[in-house]
Amino acid sequence: MNKIWIGTNWKMTKTIEEGLSYTEDLKKIAENVSSAIELFIIPSYTALVSIKELTSSSRIHLGAQNMHWEDSGPYTGEISPRMLDEIGIDIIELGHSERRQYYNENDEDINKKVLAALRYGMKPLICIGENIEHKSNNISKETLASQLKVCLKGLTDEQARNVMIAYEPVWAIGEKGVPADAGYVAEIHTYLRKTLENLFDHSGSSIPLLYGGSVNRENFLNYIDITDVNGLFIGRSAWDTDSFREILERLEKHLYG
Ligand code: PEP
Repeated sequence: MNKIWIGTNWKMTKTIEEGLSYTEDLKKIAENVSSAIELFIIPSYTALVSIKELTSSSRIHLGAQNMHWEDSGPYTGEISPRMLDEIGIDIIELGHSERRQYYNENDEDINKKVLAALRYGMKPLICIGENIEHKSNNISKETLASQLKVCLKGLTDEQARNVMIAYEPVWAIGEKGVPADAGYVAEIHTYLRKTLENLFDHSGSSIPLLYGGSVNRENFLNYIDITDVNGLFIGRSAWDTDSFREILERLEKHLYG
């Protein structure tokens, strides 16, 4: 797998105006980023239409932070695949640990959303991750295998080629997160790759596996060199374009000289 996916979920941090200014900056930065690096940003819903106007003339993929599985219906406050498809969204982030924790989203819900996104030709970016109790009870791998199996239930080999997985240990995410040890990430990514290869005959080895959780300017190179890490999903350290620029420039140099 040659491509490296690097992107950021803005969560609930930027207004439309702030998002536009960020995207203008990132478009300039992207001009010097090798085409082997696939860049993506995941703004809030309110900014998607305006930001799409900027990203459509760039190589930056645009994602949404969540989605309902139904095309339309009595689901107040929800956004459907039809609506996101109309904007021209490429990536649908699903199952972030904050959605699981605060909105009780579960793997069955995520599975329905994955299938809906694929029906519309949008790429699901499925977040999985164990919490600290799973880790301390030594059941991280079982937890992750179960998340993968349910989230990817019913997908054909062909459909599996269009998904991406972000492994984000819950204990490593956000302000209180503790960056994971690179050796631990390597062990888990090897396990995830094997699990995907067992689930899908031909596509398991081509599904991009991203790593996320307190990735920053100091530690990103430790993760990117891991064999089964095919990209980075970055929060806080990519919300500021100076910090994101530094990561991209150093990554470019590290990978391509
Ligand atoms: C996240 O919340 O998915 C995330 C990776 O955030 P951070 O990089 O800020 O830990």
